[in-house]
Amino acid sequence: MRNNTRARSLVAVEFDGLVEVHLPPISAGAYATLCGMDGDDEWNGQKPAVLPHNPKVTCAHCIGIWRAARAYGPKYIDTQHLEKDHE
Ligand SMILES: [Zn+2]
Repeated sequence: MRNNTRARSLVAVEFDGLVEVHLPPISAGAYATLCGMDGDDEWNGQKPAVLPHNPKVTCAHCIGIWRAARAYGPKYIDTQHLEKDHE
């Protein structure tokens, strides 16, 4: 299995005055973060923020997703049915 995973830039979002750093979403779409934040929604108290120097993920939800996914090694994953650009 090829490993086409490339790390993309982390995402900083200010939510109710607190800036947190998130993992990026897995595909372009409605969400700005892996955990599903809009990232730019004043009505919900969210707005884009500047990444700090040497950013590290601080969002509890993104960290939870990362921990859950990395608990499953390659023997649990079947990508043969996926299109090439989804690998
Ligand atoms: Zn997040």
